[in-house]
Amino acid sequence: MKSNAIVIGAGIVGLATARALAIRGKKVRVLERNSFAVGASIRNFGMIWPIGQPDGKMYERAMLSQSIWKEIAAASGIWHDPVGSLHLAYSDVEMEVLESFRDTVNNTRDYTLMSPSEACMRSTAIVQNGLKGGLYSPDEMIVDSPTAIKALPAFLHQQYGVEFIWDTHVQQVETGKVYSGNKVFEADEIYVCNGPDFENLFPETFAALPITKCKLQMMRMGVQPNGWRMGPSICGGLSLTHYASFSAAGEPLQRLKQHIEDTMPDYVKWGIHVMVSQNASGELIIGDSHEYGPTHDPFEKSFINDLILKYLSGFARFQEEKITVNWNGVYAKLKDGRTEIVTSPMAGVTIINGLGGAGMTLSFGLAEQLIAGNYVP
Ligand SMILES: Cc1cc2nc3c(=O)[nH]c(=O)nc-3n(C[C@H](O)[C@H](O)[C@H](O)COP(=O)(O)OP(=O)(O)OC[C@H]3O[C@@H](n4cnc5c(N)ncnc54)[C@H](O)[C@@H]3O)c2cc1C
Repeated sequence: MKSNAIVIGAGIVGLATARALAIRGKKVRVLERNSFAVGASIRNFGMIWPIGQPDGKMYERAMLSQSIWKEIAAASGIWHDPVGSLHLAYSDVEMEVLESFRDTVNNTRDYTLMSPSEACMRSTAIVQNGLKGGLYSPDEMIVDSPTAIKALPAFLHQQYGVEFIWDTHVQQVETGKVYSGNKVFEADEIYVCNGPDFENLFPETFAALPITKCKLQMMRMGVQPNGWRMGPSICGGLSLTHYASFSAAGEPLQRLKQHIEDTMPDYVKWGIHVMVSQNASGELIIGDSHEYGPTHDPFEKSFINDLILKYLSGFARFQEEKITVNWNGVYAKLKDGRTEIVTSPMAGVTIINGLGGAGMTLSFGLAEQLIAGNYVP
């Protein structure tokens, strides 16, 4: 039987691609090797995070994604919380970065610089001692990744007839054909969205790309008592050195980076910056670290978690601080600064990968632009 399109992988990139195809009337089948997606897309903070994207096409793509997430959430009942974000400053240079960043993007974004008391009114989790101020953005929202990524296939099936074929490990792709064991699936268009297992299907293509894998450690704190909600997702100063958007802050950011390199070498070595979001049931999602390389050991390093929690306690405290779950996740990341790879290794086959730490934020927008023919690399 011939279908119009096959998507390989039911992570967020595959789901976003399936949606963009299906809303245009294509008959779409998604082949996923597991019984449900268990990759990077269910292991993240669930942060839809436009503030991390630089002005121009990336911020626009993130805002497009955010609007699609909201549209889907409204139509499907998938839980989401448009809480915004709050970046906190505990040193003069961190505050200078926030001020300079806000001034630079002031024409395009609706951000508010806050005094310590204004920031603390946004969340009772914030540590007041030493707080210089904060930057509030209304754009960011949280989804509960494990439940959202499980619910999206049912929504895409009901709404657009997308067919999901689980437990189907694709072993080979050629123009018009996808092979899994003794099964052959045919399609006019094939989209390969297999995340950090990128090398399995097109090893030569990936060997020629500057792409690697990043392992991140994450933690979850238990449900907070009495239905307490944190308010906006909160980040400390280390996050200012992590996201590309903050380079717009210019010279103060360079000073902050130098200061962190001089005083916090372990945090730099393990790529640690610290953020916290709150999920649907009231648990807190905390992370993360960044280790890069083609192969990672599967074990978590407890000293990394200790460093994350130590830094967290400097800017946020919670009523229930018991860690209930530890895990790690791996995503594909381009080493040359590109924000994704969209490439066609053969006629009718498109690989979409390498969205790094922003796949939840960018996938819906990227897929929409790509399938609509508006994608600009
Ligand atoms: C710890 C962590 C925190 C993060 N936090 C955020 C965040 O808060 N906000 C944000 O925007 N981004 C975040 N990210 C990044 C985001 O999660 C990733 O960019 C995104 O999930 C990548 O999606 P994907 O679909 O490419 O990969 P995956 O989710 O890994 O999906 C790939 C899928 O392909 C399937 N597959 C692979 N090979 C085959 C095959 N041969 N046949 C069939 N199926 C196959 C796999 O089983 C898998 O389900 C985070 C990532 C991690 C790891």
